[in-house]
Amino acid sequence: MNQRTYLDYNATAPLRDEVREAVIAALSIPGNPSSVHAEGRAARRAIEAARTKVAALAGARAEDVIFTSGGTEANALALGAPPGEAWHCYVSAVEHPSVLLSRRVSQKAPTRFPVTSDGVADLESLAKELSALEETRPFVSLMAANNETGALQPVAEASQIVHDAGGMLHTDAVQAAGRIKLDMAALGADLLSLSAHKIGGPTGVGALVLRPGASVEPLLRGGTQERRRRPGTENVAGIVGFGVAAELALTDLANSGATAKLRDELEGGVLALVPDAVVLSAESERLPNTTCFAVPGVKAETIVIALDLAGVAVSAGSACSSGKVEASHVLSAMGISDELARGAIRVSLGFATTRADIKTFLKAFGELIGRLRPRVAA
Ligand code: PLP
Repeated sequence: MNQRTYLDYNATAPLRDEVREAVIAALSIPGNPSSVHAEGRAARRAIEAARTKVAALAGARAEDVIFTSGGTEANALALGAPPGEAWHCYVSAVEHPSVLLSRRVSQKAPTRFPVTSDGVADLESLAKELSALEETRPFVSLMAANNETGALQPVAEASQIVHDAGGMLHTDAVQAAGRIKLDMAALGADLLSLSAHKIGGPTGVGALVLRPGASVEPLLRGGTQERRRRPGTENVAGIVGFGVAAELALTDLANSGATAKLRDELEGGVLALVPDAVVLSAESERLPNTTCFAVPGVKAETIVIALDLAGVAVSAGSACSSGKVEASHVLSAMGISDELARGAIRVSLGFATTRADIKTFLKAFGELIGRLRPRVAA
């Protein structure tokens, strides 16, 4: 492949070199971490070292980290509230589908609470909903940051409301991890989801982090791994890679100002080329690495394909399944018209992004806009 410019970290960040090396070394550990012999103990040690690093990324205790097969499984595990009580599940309208479509807390579909036009959870609406609850406890899921717009969500305020109502709060921090500082206690979260591949770790590994004393109902039955909370022989190499990625991501938080500067430069360049482009969630606090903008009158997939041909990888802000491009549920929940939403693209930066990448993006974007909308670009 020729030189590529990769600006789709929110989909998957590139594997970090240090992670690759650690994963390859860990693949050669022969033991099962549950075995008592030296090989087993070596595998166990590797997992526990990674657990400490992942816990540090979330500001949590190592014993409260449950390794899973990724963010989707962490969300599913979280949304199986402790049994024995009646729960009603509330989720923000902009959650990832793995939360939106969950049916585990109660048999019913979760109630969705709205977001503002800037994509930020409307906590007044949530509080009103919770005050009307009788005989059931609220289980609320509110992500720390949205994957499409980067909008940060008021998790600490929400947890106060939820706890006052006698409930539990889960936060999907898959996109926030390594991009903003996370602290379980400050967030007031009972449960928090993470995924390795968004921070330069391998795909297929993630974690659910618990508040001290919190418990979850396992998804599967079987062995006693992960303190009986997630049976199955652990993905040793994946977990080791996750640990290395978490450690690097924590150190990299110091660079978030520089990432935000590059993102702002990109956004400024886009607006200079297309003055009527609409930056979504522009007025809210956002992840430093994410921008989502719509070009009126141009379909997102046209932009994504043209940029791909020019060697630049970005995403459409719309969900694309089986060839049918639908306006994203996130942008719809923000009240963005389907027509504008169909022109939304997401550009997400990360640890390897340089100013040269931003320049390459703007050059390619300028050329394609010149072709697609010659009058605007002139
Ligand atoms: N939650 C959010 C906010 C995400 O963006 C994603 C991935 O796109 C997930 C959960 C799912 O994570 P995984 O791909 O590890 O299952």
